[in-house]
Amino acid sequence: MTHYALLIDGQLQTAEHLDEVLDPATEQVVGYAARASEAQVDAAVEAAQRAFAAWAADPQARRHALALAAAILRENSQQIAELISLEQGRPVRFTLGEVAGAAATFDHYASFETPPAEVLRDDEQRLVRIERRPLGVVAAITPWNVPIILLVLKLAPALHAGNTLVAKPSEHTPLSTLLLGHLLKDVFPAGVLNIVAGDGAIGERLSRHPQVRHITFTGSVATGKNLYAGAADDLKRLTLELGGNDAALVLADADIPAIAESLFWGAFWNSGQVCFAIKRLYVHQSLFEPLVAALVARAEKTRLGSGLDPDTELGPLTNRQQLERVKALVADARAHGAVVHTGGTQPDGPGYFFAPTIVSGIAAGVALVDEEQFGPVLPVIAFDDVEDAIRQANASPFGLGASVWTRDVARGEAIARRLDAGLAWVNQHLDVHPGAPKGGYKWSGLGYEGGLRGYDAFSDLQVINIARR
Ligand code: NAD
Repeated sequence: MTHYALLIDGQLQTAEHLDEVLDPATEQVVGYAARASEAQVDAAVEAAQRAFAAWAADPQARRHALALAAAILRENSQQIAELISLEQGRPVRFTLGEVAGAAATFDHYASFETPPAEVLRDDEQRLVRIERRPLGVVAAITPWNVPIILLVLKLAPALHAGNTLVAKPSEHTPLSTLLLGHLLKDVFPAGVLNIVAGDGAIGERLSRHPQVRHITFTGSVATGKNLYAGAADDLKRLTLELGGNDAALVLADADIPAIAESLFWGAFWNSGQVCFAIKRLYVHQSLFEPLVAALVARAEKTRLGSGLDPDTELGPLTNRQQLERVKALVADARAHGAVVHTGGTQPDGPGYFFAPTIVSGIAAGVALVDEEQFGPVLPVIAFDDVEDAIRQANASPFGLGASVWTRDVARGEAIARRLDAGLAWVNQHLDVHPGAPKGGYKWSGLGYEGGLRGYDAFSDLQVINIARR
């Protein structure tokens, strides 16, 4: 059984404690992750601080290293994808896509030109120019649902901008990130990229270290709020990519046979463990029956299984806690009178599987509608009046994504603009353009990731003001 080491100051380091990581499909041990001690977290941050000045001064070396990282990910994509699949549960064909996306992200930043300094004044008396300066040590804390791409979306722009970084993956899926550290060990100068593993306490130690200047976090609202409060003491910068409860609105003119497959995957991809999955489906009452029938038919032919089986469409939930949460939400919905059209059960045998589940007969006020289920259970809610559907969609503390499904694209766009969501789609859900700034409204986040707005978060601005005479 393989042990996966930490990466600190350019060295692979083991630890006093090893955490076993389970395959959620079999509940068998996949491997052991070194759990960083507090001293190792501090050592990683201090190494990153020491490496900062030389790294910040050499943009050419940064570009070169990012291009090399892309190549190494591509060369090792099968190994990384299989490990993600083993610890997270998603089928390999999807985790291969995740690794390809991570390699493309490294490539994108390898050739990314930093926007030129803005000149506000340049005449005989004055030169006034706005420049960017890297921040220093960045702490990147990531969740378990899509571990590698979510890390690289932070890592690549942060390092490109001249910062150094300490990453901490989720305790549920640390192995693929530790493998990445192993593969990239010699790509970056010692201390530029460090990886420590452990639970929330290790994340807290890292996020509160006085030498950390920026925290970039993807995860739950509860942890995001904790980090926000903790960052206040030291006025650390932070970017928060948090949970969602995305609504999809299916209007009366929608073409159900044409959209049912996309709606299904919008809700159930990665067994619903996606921040911006469809988590509430509002449908015009005239289409309620055909839509539920189409989704039930699709759900019932879905092949559940191990991510390593090439026939699998949906894997298990990633961990037992998440399975228990999903089961509890379904039980609570039933207690509130929900109709479970299909699913609602955990299949026999080992693993954290839950059948894709379609539920109706509940509305706001029931946890399955109000909260983020983050699992393969979709509540379908009928509406009469689209204004009422818009109101219900927006009556949520979340605001990550939302979509409108209609044959009338102009009307769809007009409604999409009224939805309180950082990502608003028409006739699709989940697609994110690589240049798009991804950010949530309300409790779904703070700041942006991706695009120029996301890149900006990894620099401070400095106004250079020179008197010429
Ligand atoms: P989580 O908040 O439980 O954990 C995320 C990370 O934070 C883990 O590495 C964990 O160890 C660490 N952590 C926990 N407590 C901490 C603390 N006090 N201080 C510092 N670090 C701490 O989230 P999760 O359950 O791993 O992930 C699922 C959540 O992530 C869902 O809500 C999902 O919507 C959200 N998510 C959001 C996005 C997005 O882009 N908006 C993307 C993916 C997932």
